Parts: sequence; C-alpha cells; structure tokens
Amino acid sequence: MTCEPGVITEQLQQFADEQGLFYPVDFASSGSSQLGGNVATNAGGIKVIRYGLTRSWVVGMKVITGEGKLLELNKGLTKNATGYDFRHLFIGSEGTLGVIVELTLALCSKPKDPTVLLLGLDSMSASMSVLQVFQDRLTLTAFEFFSDKAMTHVIAEKGLKRPFSGSSDFYALIEFEQVAAQDLETALELFEHCLEQGWISDGTISQSTTQAQHLWRLREDISETISRFSTYKNDISVKISQVPAFLSQVDKLVAAAYPDFEIIWFGHIGDGNVHLNILKPEHWSIAEFHQTCSQVSERVFELLQQFGGSVSAEHGVGLIKKPFLHYARSAEEIAYMKSLKRIFDPNNVLNPGKLIDC
Ligand SMILES: Cc1cc2nc3c(=O)[nH]c(=O)nc-3n(C[C@H](O)[C@H](O)[C@H](O)COP(=O)(O)OP(=O)(O)OC[C@H]3O[C@@H](n4cnc5c(N)ncnc54)[C@H](O)[C@@H]3O)c2cc1C
Repeated sequence: MTCEPGVITEQLQQFADEQGLFYPVDFASSGSSQLGGNVATNAGGIKVIRYGLTRSWVVGMKVITGEGKLLELNKGLTKNATGYDFRHLFIGSEGTLGVIVELTLALCSKPKDPTVLLLGLDSMSASMSVLQVFQDRLTLTAFEFFSDKAMTHVIAEKGLKRPFSGSSDFYALIEFEQVAAQDLETALELFEHCLEQGWISDGTISQSTTQAQHLWRLREDISETISRFSTYKNDISVKISQVPAFLSQVDKLVAAAYPDFEIIWFGHIGDGNVHLNILKPEHWSIAEFHQTCSQVSERVFELLQQFGGSVSAEHGVGLIKKPFLHYARSAEEIAYMKSLKRIFDPNNVLNPGKLIDC
C-alpha cells in the first residue's frame, strides 16, 4: 500500500480491512497519529508480540534529506541485498535526518477469530509464567498488563463495569487467534492450570467481538484517562527473560522513592516493555513534580543500564529523554549518530535539538 505520510493510522487499518487485509500496527492513538509519525518513531503498540514494530511493515519510502535531496529507499522490494539499507536508518530517526514524503507499507491477512482473556494476576512476576504457558500452546496476538489502580481510574472515568467480581493487584490481557478448532478449549485448560499454580485468582474470556472490545478498553483507555493528572511517564524495556527480576527491583526502588505518589503500571509486558506512570499529587506544582520524578528516573535508568535495557522502548527520545540517552546507547554510538546527522542534515534544519545535540 503506497500512501502519503499524513494518512491517519486508523484510516490505513480501515482501508486494509475493506480489502480483506490487515495492517497490524495498532495502539490507543491510532485514531489521531499519522503514518509518518509512526515510522519516524518506529511505533510499537499492542500487537508487537505477533507482528513486530512499524519497522517490519515498511517496504519502501521516499524521503527528502536536510540537504534537499530526494531518496527513494528499497522501492517496495522484499529482497534487496545492495549494501546499506538506508530505509532502516530513517525509521525511528524522529525526523532528524529527512522528511518522509511517501511510504509503501506491507499488509497481511486478517487474524482468525481473535479472542480475549483477562486474568487477575497474583503478582507482576506471575505474568511471565502465564505468558510462557500461553505462548507455548496458542498463537498470541497480544499480551498486555495493567495494575488495578490503572483499571480503577479507567472504570471511574469511562463508566465501565469491572470485568469480574474479585480484584487483583495486576491483570494480564491476552489476545489469541483461533487458528485450530481446539484453541478455545486449550485456552480454558491453560486458565485452569494458571489457577492451580496460584499465578492467577480469577479471569474472564470474551464470547463475542463486543465483549473483546470491552475488555480491550480497560487497557486502551488508560493513557487518555490518566493524562489529566499531568502524568510523568516512563516507557522502558528490558529483555523479556529479565522482566520478572527487573520489575521486582524497580518496584522496590519506586515504592521507596515515591511513598506518597500514585504509581500506575501498564504496558506491553510480552515485549519486555512497561510504562511506569506517576500521577502528580494535586498540591504539587508541575515544576517541583517533574524535578523529583526526573531524579528518581535517573535511578530507574541506572538500574536499566545494569540490565542492558532501554530508556525509551517505543515512544522515542525527543527532548525529554535526550539527557538520558547515554543510559541506553554508548558514547561511540551517540558520536556516530551525530556524524550521520551531519551527513544527511549538514545545516541542522531538521528537528534541531531533538534526540541528539549536534
Ligand atoms: C493514547 C496514546 C497511546 C499510545 N500508545 C502507543 C503505543 O502503544 N505504542 C507506541 O509505539 N506508541 C504509542 N503512542 C505514541 C505513538 O507512537 C505516537 O502517537 C505515534 O506513533 C506518533 O505519530 P504522530 O502522528 O502522533 O507523530 P508526531 O508526534 O506528530 O511526531 C512524532 C515524531 O515523528 C516526526 N515526524 C512526523 N511526521 C514525519 C515525517 N513525515 N517525516 C519525518 N518525520 C516525521 C516528528 O517530527 C516527531 O519527531 C501512544 C500515544 C498516545 C497519545
């Protein structure tokens, strides 16, 4: 599908659907974000576990560099072994190397009967055991998690119902594709197994598309719901195998550092990506709040560095994460980034000051 970069993500999803196809990159801002922005930030979202990031879907692009040169990259080819693939340099470059003026994106076939399970987890780390058993036996299209605090805010703000009577500290939202006839039965078996193991305490499964959409809202409406609290956001990632150890350490650190702050956890835990959100207490000024959060972020990032993780999993660096880039990228890498910026944008006219200083 070839289009201009100003196409809204959701428009592409709808267009693909009308053709009996599927564009799998999806997130809560799909109704407003543009494909150019998605590519420039290599956006991820809720289906990465199955379909990968935006990068996986870009088969061609035209860009105008900071020097005003038009580059036609990869031309929609599946195979192209002709040296450096500049397409991948421009993906995720946050508009610092060139302006994307045309995109060619791949589409795929639609998933079969996506079904959603919402499970009450006994702990954050239990989510990894649940992920493992479900991933072994089913084709997962999403594995998301959120805290009870996050869900309570969404339910109050959006007037939704609680998914089941009991409550847990955390929830896992699992979406799977019904590839084989017995997949539904397998999901129920796994549900029982997780209960027996003490990893989960309750759960529900969607019986219709409407019910699946309702369960998704509990996850998808979190960002918008908490935005009115002047939230301090962290979008961080570690290797999937390290998630339990990392989460337990960061949880201790945050509880000790922010005893008075309300923490909202959610994220794409199946990708090793969590969003740590801190809500501004009403009586704090924004400046005071951000300064305190920024200090504690440094400690979270030091921990991330020990784990070899990233200070920005999918939201990009921009201005806010720029001072912390060195926690995830080496001095040599940052120096090469600056050199590349000078090659493609010698007059520093494209998003100057974003991502890196030249
Ligand atoms: C409620 C909510 C939920 C979200 N959930 C997710 C999520 O789950 N996963 C995720 O990855 N992201 C998520 N995001 C962030 C999302 O990635 C961005 O909204 C989107 O990808 C960026 O697109 P945009 O059109 O908003 O770009 P903008 O914010 O306008 O731009 C982003 C960057 O791209 C550059 N850019 C834009 N167009 C071009 C172009 N044509 N050429 C070169 N550079 C360009 C801009 O200069 C800027 O640096 C969420 C955001 C919100 C508000």
